[in-house]
Formats: sequence, structure tokens, C-alpha cells
Amino acid sequence: MLSKYYLYNTLTKQIDEFISNEPGVVKMYTCGPTVYHFAHIGNLRSYIMEDILEKSLVYDGYRVDRVMNITDVGHLSSDADTGEDKMVKGAKREHKTVLEIAQYYTDAFFKDCEDLNIRKPDTVVPATSCIDEFIKVIESLLEKGYAYRSGENIYFDTSKVSDYYALTGHNSNDLRVGVRDDVDEDENKRNKADFVLWFTKSKFEDQQLKWDSPWGVGYPGWHIECSCISIKNLGERLDIHCGGVDNIFPHHTNEIAQSEAFLGHKWCNYWFHVQHLNDKEGKMSKSRGEFLTVSLLKSLNYDPMVYRMFCLQSHYRKPLEFSYAALDNVASAYERLKSRIAALKPDGEPDMEAAAPYRTEFAEVLCNDLNTSMALTKVYDIFKAPLDDATKLWLIKDFDTVLSLNLVSEKEESHTDTDDGLVAIIEAKISERAEAKKARDYAKADAIRDELKAMGIQLKDSKEGTTWEKI
Ligand code: AMP
Ligand code: ZN
Repeated sequence: MLSKYYLYNTLTKQIDEFISNEPGVVKMYTCGPTVYHFAHIGNLRSYIMEDILEKSLVYDGYRVDRVMNITDVGHLSSDADTGEDKMVKGAKREHKTVLEIAQYYTDAFFKDCEDLNIRKPDTVVPATSCIDEFIKVIESLLEKGYAYRSGENIYFDTSKVSDYYALTGHNSNDLRVGVRDDVDEDENKRNKADFVLWFTKSKFEDQQLKWDSPWGVGYPGWHIECSCISIKNLGERLDIHCGGVDNIFPHHTNEIAQSEAFLGHKWCNYWFHVQHLNDKEGKMSKSRGEFLTVSLLKSLNYDPMVYRMFCLQSHYRKPLEFSYAALDNVASAYERLKSRIAALKPDGEPDMEAAAPYRTEFAEVLCNDLNTSMALTKVYDIFKAPLDDATKLWLIKDFDTVLSLNLVSEKEESHTDTDDGLVAIIEAKISERAEAKKARDYAKADAIRDELKAMGIQLKDSKEGTTWEKI
């Protein structure tokens, strides 16, 4: 490993040294999207930071096995198990079937991820593909006395676990179960915090997707999905579980209770939670109607990389407020940074020995509870470093395997392998044009720009100078 990895752990409420169960390998689980609508840029903040976490672990030298679910059934509009299934609600809104909207919004989610350079986890599992697993685990929980049948649903009995509130840090019964709309008390529950593992009866009778089970035709609760998908694909001991802070209670709290009851031992060692992106009205949320998407930002001519950089500039454990003014500042900073990189003139091979300490420093800031803003600063530090341009460019490309900001675009990279003669001509024309501008001979400057354009070369002027790219 390049550096020891330290990470804030919601379970211990402190920054812990990260030690994986199996040396060199990280088993990482991410709660995936509920695919009843587009992801908003708040959801995507969580996925960007989880992506950086994964890539920084890889940079540090780990192999990361990562699994994500797709919630296409069971996530009710109230986490208290009383509201309508969000997928059914979405399908009604669009006059489509649940499976149609699940497919549509799953594709849209991964398109957003692609736009934002968020790597798709190796294993992505829709909840509806694992019904047999859910039933098997629920049967075992019933056998062991952790679950009970009441009012034709199967509930998890939270009174049977000693430290149910360990993750939240609260031990009061006052934590609101269900942070969303229409919260009613469910009279079938033995304890207020109990939650549904399997529904055969809910007040909403128009659930589209139902399956046979030993308890009658029904569908799974949301929480059981993540536990089962994680255990099935990553085994009995998980290293890191990720999500946004709203997942801490009740979702992740319930995941721990049922997983550990099923397994009979501790399940996951590190819990990683990303704070929310807010707008002026508060937390950005899908149920609030109008919300910001990547497509909207693109339609307003923002490069998705600008939003990614906006997220990386702040720490994942701090709430982040979105504004267009802030995004505009990042857009200019991003352009300036790209121009400075494009102005590097690599000549020859990078000096790997000289690069090594910079790699270690970069790893160290990321391994310090994922200090992404400091990692960005390390990119700027490279310009001042006593290194030749080939080594500088190589290091920036290397850092960008984690940052994933397209800092060295293919066009700029291709400068190095464009035939040297052509590069020399272009550079000479750019100098000639700069001289012409200095002498206020704008007609000549424009003529040179047009001449280069005819050669398939586009010039870009900025405060730092002129850069070029192939059209
Ligand atoms: P959902 O699609 O609602 O299941 O949420 C997907 C992910 O986005 C979960 O990890 C949530 O915790 C996270 N999330 C939801 N709202 C926000 C927000 N405003 N800012 C950051 N993450 C969020
Ligand atoms: Zn989950």
C-alpha cells in the first residue's frame, strides 16, 4: 500500500484506520438508486464520492470488489412501511408498467454515471432478480425467532437485538421511522421500530409485482434487499457499506439488525456516509417535484465534469449547497486548469523515480478520510514542482485515474503522438499570431487562426495563453 488508509466510520463515530478482512482486498457495498425517477444531482453527489472512495482504495493498492443493488421493488414512500411503493407510484405517473420504468430509469442512471465518470460497479443486482434469496433469509429469521408474522406481513422484531441503535448513536424510541410522506402507525408491529421483511398485505392493493412465498403472494421490504444482495455477492463479512446520510436510519440500521441476526456474527466493519447536497430550500429530494439532473446541467451547457469538480472541492462529510454562481466559479477554474495542462510540452519519457514521492503525497491526502479538495490542490502543486513537463503530465494523468475529471483529454494526449513536424508548425503559427496581436494586427491574427482551422486545428485563448486541439 502507498499509505495507511483512515476513514470516518459512522459505526464508531471516529476516524478509524481501515483494515480489510482479507489483506489487500476490499468488499464494498453501495445502496443503489430507487429507479422510479431520474437521479438528481444530490443522489449523484453520493455516487461521485463513493466512486472516489473506490478509486482511491485502488490507487492505494487494494483490489476492490464492489456490488450495488437496483431498488426496483419494496421501497415505500414512507420508510415506516406505510406509504405506497415508489415504483408503483412512478409507473402510475407515467402510465407505464413498473418494469418499464425500472428499465428506463436504470438506463438513465447509468448514463448519468457515465457522464460523470462514475465507474459502474462490477456487480449490479436488481432486487427483483433475488426474490428466492430474500425468502430464504426471511425463513431463517423466522426460525431463529427474530421475525414474526402479524396482519399477514412478516416483521423483524427489533427488540431481539441488543444494540439496534448502534449506527445512529441514539437509543431513544423517538427517532422518527419514516422521514418521508404519510407516516401512520402500523398496528401490526410489536415494537415501534420493527419493520416489514415481506408484505402480503398492505393498504395499497395495486402492487404490480408479486411473488409466491411460504406466507402467501407478496413482495419484499426494501431493507432485506440490500442485506441479501450484499451477503450473496460479497460473503458474510463486508468491509465497507456506503450510502447517503439519510440511509443511516432506518435503512442501514435495519440492514445491520437483520444481517447480523441471520449470520450470527458482526457483518460490516466500516460505514461510509455522504452528507447531502442541498439547495436553498433544503435537502434535494426526488419526491419534491422539480429537481436538478445532469441532463438539465448539460442543457445549460455545463460540462458534467464541472459538477464532479464542484463535489470534489468539498469534503464528503460536510453538507454542500448548490448554486449556479458556485458552479460558474468551478467552470472557470476547470477551464483554466485544463488550459494549463494543455500548455505542458512533454518531451521524452517521464521520470518515474522523480514522480514517486508525488504519488505518495497524493495517496496520503486521499487516505486521510478522503480529502478530495486537498487532492485537487496536489494537481495544482504539480505545476510548481521541479519536474519536466513529461513527468508533470504523466503525474496529472495518474492522479486523474482517481479524480476522473478528464484533465488530460484524448485530444491533448494526442499532442504527444501527433507527428512532431505538425506540432512544430502549429506552435510556430501560434507564436506568430501572438506577435501579430501584440502589434495590434488583428487581421493577421485572425487570418492565422483561420488558416489553422482549415488544417483542422482549433485555437482556444485564455488568460494563460493559447492552446489548441484537433477539430
Ligand atoms: P434513492 O434513489 O432515493 O434510493 O437514493 C440514492 C442515494 O442517494 C442514496 O444513497 C441516498 O442516501 C442518496 N441521497 C438522497 N438524497 C441525497 C442528497 N440530497 N444529497 C446526497 N445524497 C443523497
Ligand atoms: Zn440499501
